[in-house]
Amino acid sequence: MLKKEYKFILFDLDRTLWDFDTNAKNNICTLLDKYGLTNIDKELFYTRYDYINHKLWTAYEKGELPKEKLRSERFYRTFLEFGIDNPEIAAEFGEEYLNSMPLQKALMPHALEVLSGLKERGVRMAIISNGFKEVQYKKLENCGIAIFFDAVMISEEQGVHKPSPILFKRALKAIGGDKKLSLMVGDDFTNDIEGAMIFGIDQFFYNYKSVPCDGGPTYDSNDLRDLLTF
Ligand SMILES: [Mg+2]
Repeated sequence: MLKKEYKFILFDLDRTLWDFDTNAKNNICTLLDKYGLTNIDKELFYTRYDYINHKLWTAYEKGELPKEKLRSERFYRTFLEFGIDNPEIAAEFGEEYLNSMPLQKALMPHALEVLSGLKERGVRMAIISNGFKEVQYKKLENCGIAIFFDAVMISEEQGVHKPSPILFKRALKAIGGDKKLSLMVGDDFTNDIEGAMIFGIDQFFYNYKSVPCDGGPTYDSNDLRDLLTF
């Protein structure tokens, strides 16, 4: 139950509204079919990809692996486990994966009903997302939720990323918001929740995996529908 009626809500996109993990899995399964790799166990392939991808992302974040290499290597290593040793196919698959990701449409549970409920109540909403503009705008359009937002702030376009208060400030200004009546909704504790704390607005931690959290957000919930309970 929310403590008050918020008139302005800032939403994160990936894993808050747009179901990144389901979309990644669907995308990979479709590509495996497209490449005629129908004998591969898709569940197992995705599980292995996810594991390898996480490991390589860590190396990328430490500066040990360039971005271009990450894009193909994560598929090269996964294919290798399934007996396919072909860097060219892996590179092509990696590029196609990136191109078709924004076309995926799965949303987090109840995202659509919550956005439309808030819109009906006259809440002004903005997207505040760390990502690339050519990808994030396409996602918003393709999954049918762009219509709900009065402003969209993408880090690449703005030249500043969450948790910087600058991005929160710009988003709120763009929707004519007042800090006291504003709420940030997101799944990433550092970028979304701590960012909103520093900026000085209330925070709704969309803790969909229900991980223990003692950082003290205003709200800690695994159900977006709680946003309609005031
Ligand atoms: Mg997120």
